[in-house]
Amino acid sequence: MNQSAVLKPAASETGDPFLLTPGPLTTSRTVKASMAHDWGSRDASFVAINKAVLARLAEIVHGEGDYVTVPMQGSGTFAVEAMLTSFVPPTGKVLVLINGAYGQRAKRILDIARRKTVVHETAEDAPPDLKKVETVLKRTPSITHIFVVHCETTSGILNPIAEIGALAAKYKKGYLIDSMSAFGALPIDAPAIHADAVAASSNKCIEGVPGLGFVVCQRDALAATRGNATTLVLDLHDQWANFEKTGQYRFTPPTHVIVAFHQALAEFDAEGALGDVGAV
Ligand SMILES: *Cc1c(COP(=O)(O)O)cnc(C)c1O
Repeated sequence: MNQSAVLKPAASETGDPFLLTPGPLTTSRTVKASMAHDWGSRDASFVAINKAVLARLAEIVHGEGDYVTVPMQGSGTFAVEAMLTSFVPPTGKVLVLINGAYGQRAKRILDIARRKTVVHETAEDAPPDLKKVETVLKRTPSITHIFVVHCETTSGILNPIAEIGALAAKYKKGYLIDSMSAFGALPIDAPAIHADAVAASSNKCIEGVPGLGFVVCQRDALAATRGNATTLVLDLHDQWANFEKTGQYRFTPPTHVIVAFHQALAEFDAEGALGDVGAV
């Protein structure tokens, strides 16, 4: 959102009040206008637009080549649930770092999927205690993955994803990040922080319309998730395998949302992407 939009309490280009929530939020007139057409989900032009969106999302987290974006129809939580239930095998155990509602939600997803968890919880204004996290990792070798929320939207606290990633690498754990309200606003270097997967959605910092979640996945880690999924629709491996084979979605994609997301990404790039934001 540009600065003048924030300062002016007037109406947006369309006369609607500005949405100053984390998302969904006010979109530009051009993002809205891009939806005034219809696409067949298997049309070559739509398949090409979708492919460009997926490639650009991986680049935003410096994942060119080594990472692949798997989109998931639905809101952000669909992507987080797809990430957790696809990456964590039935024999897995997740160290869930909680300091707000979205950490709690991840724990609930894992409970429903009957995946074992170990919780490290801190107050909503306190990041995880890295010394304690390391002690837990040392004492509990059965932990297979670490999960953290990048920016806990409930309080706005920013969690130390690089330091947690260093621990994940040191103890050889999978590393799963919910970056919903930070992706596109704060830099993420997925390979440098040893992330296996980063989940986000179309309707937050990139300023698209709601309807598509996505998970940027390290290719080998994703390849190893085959057969883990607890549901057909949220199976990231199956969704990916189908893209590799046909370039198309398994089930009806939100075509207009994806075309609007393509336009929102073009506007994000025209504004300089994350060019002058310092590294985290
Ligand atoms: C917005 C958000 C989500 C996803 O919420 P949905 O309502 O499913 O789009 C997940 N995690 C965080 C940190 C969020 O800010």
